[in-house]
Amino acid sequence: MTPEPTGVTLLVTGGDVVTMNATRDVLVGGAVAIADGRVAAVGSTAALRAAHPDAAELDASGCVVTPGLVDAHQHHTGDALVRSSIPDDLPPGESIFEWAVPLHAVHTGDDDELASLLTCVESLRAGVTTVVEPGTVAHPDRVAAAMTRAGLRGTVGRWGSDTEGLPLAGSVADVLAENEALLDRYPAGGLVEAWVTLVGHSLASDELMAGAADLARRRGVGMTMHISPHEQDVHDYLDRTGVRPLVHLERLGVLGPHLLLGHAVHLDDAEVELLLGTRTAVAYCPWAYLRLGQGVTRAGRHAEIVERGGRVALGCDSVNAGDAIDVLRAAALASGLAKDQAADPTRLPAAVAFELATIRGAEAIGLGDRIGSLEVGKAADLVVHRTTTAAWTPRGDLAHELVWSTDGRSVRDVVVAGRVVVRDGVCQTVDEQALRAEAQEARTALLRRAGISVPDSWPLIDSA
Ligand SMILES: [Zn+2]
Repeated sequence: MTPEPTGVTLLVTGGDVVTMNATRDVLVGGAVAIADGRVAAVGSTAALRAAHPDAAELDASGCVVTPGLVDAHQHHTGDALVRSSIPDDLPPGESIFEWAVPLHAVHTGDDDELASLLTCVESLRAGVTTVVEPGTVAHPDRVAAAMTRAGLRGTVGRWGSDTEGLPLAGSVADVLAENEALLDRYPAGGLVEAWVTLVGHSLASDELMAGAADLARRRGVGMTMHISPHEQDVHDYLDRTGVRPLVHLERLGVLGPHLLLGHAVHLDDAEVELLLGTRTAVAYCPWAYLRLGQGVTRAGRHAEIVERGGRVALGCDSVNAGDAIDVLRAAALASGLAKDQAADPTRLPAAVAFELATIRGAEAIGLGDRIGSLEVGKAADLVVHRTTTAAWTPRGDLAHELVWSTDGRSVRDVVVAGRVVVRDGVCQTVDEQALRAEAQEARTALLRRAGISVPDSWPLIDSA
């Protein structure tokens, strides 16, 4: 007798399936069945093969299968086309205001889409399946188009600021209207959805911040903005309002579960309490703070927030601030910083760091019911990690292997919403070679238009 068709179109078989479900079960030699972009079943390979004989198979034998990784703070434009170009020895703020902002200002729509596509490819190849774009985009529709084409799940927003003189700044009414129009174009639930986004720091008026939070709450969507990666934000808020940033945001009614704050490195005790009490989430980008010398080793309290049940996700920021898009690398650093800061090796173990990259990260960005674990009904977003390398040999504890021993370079295949977007380490949705050539050309043009010349650390001698 032929079994009834089940709608299951793809089986990922034979791998050690790290589910990140409530009991953190690992199915050794297990399988994931996918139907309509969702997980239809997680179980034994033999049983799922027998139940779905017509489904295509992605053989993950000898591999490790995990949920797709969440990158909760990844700029898609501005830096991506000028990678490794902003010096790493600039005084505080200069990398933003003398480099990133002028570069953002001369981005065309084509640049935004190209930069985003490049970011999508790097993200997917490192196992990132969901990204929050922090809202410093001039042409959000072009970024949404790139995410859609690449097959990366993500949120988009438009550069939101009402500070006079800043590129793309507008009136409060205009910025809110543009945010709301974007919410209409990319409703929640799609592969790409819009969020309410402000640049943050001290680049928005109280009226704009309060209006943005009202809009996010009214529409039931996420909101993100930057705050306190460095102490300058604290000084600016104290000067302007007499209180520290989170205290002021609380008084304005901005904090709450809808809000994902980028960074929040410099918090005092009262601010940590406000963050926890309002269930406000944080995108923690440890590599960026090290790269930019922002004081996370001295001041960061992210591990404490995690330990106290707060909502924290990991981010990789941008390619001249943290640079490599690799959430597993960020997870290792988050764990290591927590241990070293307190000289206490019991803090934030690898298993918890991997939660930040998956299920807890998903929850922090408000998508915990849709992604972050391999469970029936959730989106079929998963990563197959190749384990036939010295770094995975001999095999040991999975959490240690994923966080400490390896990084995104082990990623072999990536599935987003049931679609295989990376196979054998190569992106299937974008011609990578053509993309690289286009990006190289765009870099030259962009730097010329911004009037920036990039110093090289070493003399370059033409020796062709
Ligand atoms: Zn940022």
